[in-house]
Amino acid sequence: LPALSVRDLRKTYDTRVEALKGVSLDVMPGDFFALLGPNGAGKSTLIGIVSSLVNLSSGQVRVFGTDLLADRGAAMRLIGLVPQEINFNLFEKPLDILVNYAGFYGVPREVALQRAEEELRRAQLWEKATVMSRTLSGGMKRRLMIARAMMTRPQLLILDEPTAGVDIEIRRGMWKTLKEINAAGTTIILTTHYLEEAESLCRNLAIIDRGRIVEQGPMKALLAKL
Ligand code: ADP
Ligand code: ADP
Repeated sequence: LPALSVRDLRKTYDTRVEALKGVSLDVMPGDFFALLGPNGAGKSTLIGIVSSLVNLSSGQVRVFGTDLLADRGAAMRLIGLVPQEINFNLFEKPLDILVNYAGFYGVPREVALQRAEEELRRAQLWEKATVMSRTLSGGMKRRLMIARAMMTRPQLLILDEPTAGVDIEIRRGMWKTLKEINAAGTTIILTTHYLEEAESLCRNLAIIDRGRIVEQGPMKALLAKL
């Protein structure tokens, strides 16, 4: 059963832009999957549909077998989302940000506290648990976003251009955290326009261009072709 199964997905925006023109792909459980493509290719639209931020025009999306349109709530409980923009309160402490987020999703406080420690350690932020998050470096803030998304223990973690516009040091720190999350069993899908990023992280990828998948398969097979 795929972690994500997309069939003949189409999206035409109100502006009549056809962002997706019939996209199909499968991502297997445990995979680290990249959706690679240039700006405007349709990556954010695809991720937006899967994470219920954008309405699809036609097609089918299943998350671990659950049809997104038939049971959005159940599908969403399986997904963790890392937004591109830093959107936590800079005047809260990392520990509180994580515990409150989990609380919002109904995780009991005792469980949330334990998870928060695990996630902060994994993101190399444990020693920063109780500082004002405003004082964190750019890389730390981004790793905190990843830690927060993991608080609901998603089966599938989705990141839309997680490292857009950040320098290589920050990217490497995020890659380390993501690799650990994937190694512990969470399926990860990220969009990127850096081949280097896809190469260093992902086992499988799809290349999307102007709303269509133009290549799909193992990273190794694709690199051999280039
Ligand atoms: P990518 O993430 O690969 O850069 P997007 O999915 O953001 O690509 O965009 C795909 C196409 O859809 C582009 O032509 C973009 O301008 C257009 N688009 C994206 N979002 C919207 C929107 N909300 N309304 C109208 N057009 C959009
Ligand atoms: P949906 O079909 O998901 O409701 P819409 O087509 O209504 O999406 O667009 C959502 C919002 O994004 C609108 O407010 C629109 O103005 C804005 N938008 C329009 N064009 C773009 C674009 N190229 N990239 C990003 N956002 C856009």
